[in-house]
Amino acid sequence: MTPSTTLSADLFDRARRVIPSGVNSPVRAFGSVGGTPPFLTSAKGALLTDADGNEYVDLVGSWGPMILGHAHDGVVEAVREAAGRGLSFGAPQAGEVTLAEEVVRRIGPVEQLRLVNSGTEATMSALRVARAATGRDVVVKFAGCYHGHVDALLAEAGSGVATFAMPGSAGVTAATAKDTVVLPYGDREAVTSLFAERGGEIAAIITEAAPANMGVVPPLAEDGVGFNRFLADTAHAAGALLISDEVLTGFRASREGHYGVDGPRGTGEDWAPDLMTFGKVIGGGLPVGAFGGREDLMGLLAPAGPVYQAGTLSGNPLATAAGLATFAGLDDAAYETLGRASNALQQLVADALTAEGVPHVVQTAGTLFSVFFRGEPVRTYDDAKAQDTEAFTRFFHAMLEGGVYLPPSAFEAWFVSTAHTDEVLDRIAAVLPAAAKAAAR
Ligand code: PLP
Repeated sequence: MTPSTTLSADLFDRARRVIPSGVNSPVRAFGSVGGTPPFLTSAKGALLTDADGNEYVDLVGSWGPMILGHAHDGVVEAVREAAGRGLSFGAPQAGEVTLAEEVVRRIGPVEQLRLVNSGTEATMSALRVARAATGRDVVVKFAGCYHGHVDALLAEAGSGVATFAMPGSAGVTAATAKDTVVLPYGDREAVTSLFAERGGEIAAIITEAAPANMGVVPPLAEDGVGFNRFLADTAHAAGALLISDEVLTGFRASREGHYGVDGPRGTGEDWAPDLMTFGKVIGGGLPVGAFGGREDLMGLLAPAGPVYQAGTLSGNPLATAAGLATFAGLDDAAYETLGRASNALQQLVADALTAEGVPHVVQTAGTLFSVFFRGEPVRTYDDAKAQDTEAFTRFFHAMLEGGVYLPPSAFEAWFVSTAHTDEVLDRIAAVLPAAAKAAAR
C-alpha cells in the first residue's frame, strides 16, 4: 500500500510559498524524480520518520555526516552537555583544539587545520590560500566533481548541478569562470597538455579525493601510479598545488578518508596533497567544514598572514562537541561494521537488479559506494550522464513506497552508517525485488 503523504504534501505547499522550490538545498525538492519529498520529524539509528508517521530506512544519512546513525546517544549527550555550557562564544574554546588535533593525528598531510561552517567555505578558503601562495589565478577542476557552491567551482559540477543537468550556474561572472579550467575526470593526457600550455598560470588542481557527486567514480592507477598522486606530481612540477577535497570521503572512505586508501598507508606510494578540505563527518550532523594542510601554507592565513578568512560561528562549541563525539565512535571496529554493511548492501542491490536483468554497475571507494543504472563502468561525468535515469526513478519510487529512503538522484552516493545492522539490511532486502522489477519495466 502506498504510504499516505498528506501532511508532507501540505508542508510542501506551505514551503513553496515562502522558500524557493520549498527547499533549502535543491536536491531535496525531488525535482528529478518527481513526487512529494517526505518532511521529516525525527530520526534514530538507521530510521527516519516523516510528518505522516511513515518510517523509512535511511540511505542518505544527511548526505554523509550521520556515519554513526541518527541521534546517536554519545553524540546527542555531548551536544546536550555542551549546550548547557553556552551555544557560541566567538572566542577560542578547547573543543576546537581537540578536533583539530584529531584530524591532524589521522591525516598525515594536515599539519594545521582551520574550522569553518560548511564544505563550501572549506573549498572556497583553500582556493584563496592556493592563489595567495602561488600568486596565480587559474584553478583546474574535473567535470562531475562537486566542491560546494563556490562561484569558481560550479562549472560542470556534480551533485545537484548534475541532478538538474545544469552546465553551471547563472550569476557567476565571466571573469570568475575564466579562471576555472574544467577537464574530464581521469584524463591524464588532458592534464599533461594543459600544464604544458598554461602551467605557469595554474594555482591549483582541485579534485574530490574520490569523486562521489556524480555517483562514485574511484581514481584509477596507471602503471602503478594513482590518479591523485599523478595530479600531485604534475601540479608540483609546475609550482602549483593539489587541493584534495575530502568533504564527502573524509573519515568515511576509511579511517583516514580516501587518503587512507590511495595515500602511503594504502598503497605505499609516497605523495601528499598540499591542502585538504573536510566537512560532513567532522561535524557529526552540525554545520562544520575544515581546511588544512602544510604549515607554511596555512600560515598564510590572517592574522599572521595576508589571506583573510573568518567566521562568527567557526569553531562553535556544539559543533565541535558533535564532531568529537562522532570521532570517539569511529574506531577500527566502527569501520569494520561500516565496511560489512556497505558490502552486504552492494551485494543485495546487485543481486536484485541482476535477477531482473537491469543493467547496472556498483562502484566503490573504500566503504563508500553508489549504483549506476548502466551496464559499463563509469569513469567520467559523460559516462555517468549516459545511465538510465528513468530506470533509477522507477527504482527510487518503489524503494520509497516500500520504506527505503534513497538519495533522490541517480548522481549521488548511497550512505550507510554503523546503525545499518543486519536487521535493517533485511528490511531493505525485502523491498529490493519489487524495486528491481519496477526498474526493469
Ligand atoms: N565538497 C564535496 C566533495 C562535497 O560532497 C560537498 C557537499 O556535498 C561539498 C564540498 C560542499 O559541502 P557543503 O554542502 O557542506 O557546503
